[in-house]
Amino acid sequence: MPPEHTYVAEPGFHSRSQEAVAHLLGGACPVLEPGHVWLAGAGPGERGHLTLHALCGLIQADVIVYDALVDPGVLALARPEAEQEFAGKRGGRPSPHQRDISARLVALARSGRRVLRLKGGDPYVFGRGAEEALILAENNVPFRVIPGLTAGLAGLASIGIPATMRGVNQAIVLATGHAAEGEADPVASLDWSALARLGQPIVLYMSVRILDDVARRLIAGGMRPDMPAAAISRASSPEQSILVATLDTLGARLAETPLPTPALIVIGEIVRLRDTLGGLARDATLLLSTS
Ligand code: SAH
Repeated sequence: MPPEHTYVAEPGFHSRSQEAVAHLLGGACPVLEPGHVWLAGAGPGERGHLTLHALCGLIQADVIVYDALVDPGVLALARPEAEQEFAGKRGGRPSPHQRDISARLVALARSGRRVLRLKGGDPYVFGRGAEEALILAENNVPFRVIPGLTAGLAGLASIGIPATMRGVNQAIVLATGHAAEGEADPVASLDWSALARLGQPIVLYMSVRILDDVARRLIAGGMRPDMPAAAISRASSPEQSILVATLDTLGARLAETPLPTPALIVIGEIVRLRDTLGGLARDATLLLSTS
């Protein structure tokens, strides 16, 4: 039995879906032409977060090059004839080199295929999408970017945390403690004291493993150790869960209760708003609250 949220297309779906999407768009899908690449975001979690344009890509592509964060339910919407190539990290094995993925996109486009490069979230938010776009541009491969909902914002809302709230915050920082490969101390390449002084919430991507180091730097920069902080796992999917603690305790809590990946960290007073604004999201998720 496929998981409940995995869509199995019934006969005729793919021929009807293009018509349906065109109807919803009030016209036709933008055309994904042979030899072109669409660099698209699938949004976080389940396929309800896809945009109509991403769906246009799925129903036209000859080949889909996808990352680990793309839900299988999203890929199930592709044309049955489309080839699907995995380009992410699997089973702890190292991920393919970025230059190999970019070279593959160029080669596929040059072979005259309609190429959909599908990434989790938004392709231009910590997804290396811009690096791939740069290579496509350098090689004169025509491409289009299809934005997606980024996990750091949509994932917060899905679990009941507003990204901004009047009277609470005027900015939100999207950051990572994970810098370019090969850096001696990737966490140190960002000025964490400056972020601490800003006094605004921080959403961290790809940072669970380095959370203790980041927390130490933020506290040294003047952030309150008891600032609310949470880890959100598999946001926007049916398995989403949250662990709420404080800046100085979240790392230890996560060591005791590791959450499934992918996971985000959010630090700031907005975390507290979930107590009142969590709505159905609060009841529907596994809440491992420690505060
Ligand atoms: N381009 C993506 C981010 C890619 S970086 C986007 O815009 O969302 C990968 C990191 O994103 C993960 O390490 C995790 O921190 C975060 N992430 C992506 N999807 C997530 C999800 N569904 N739930 C929680 N975190 C997620």
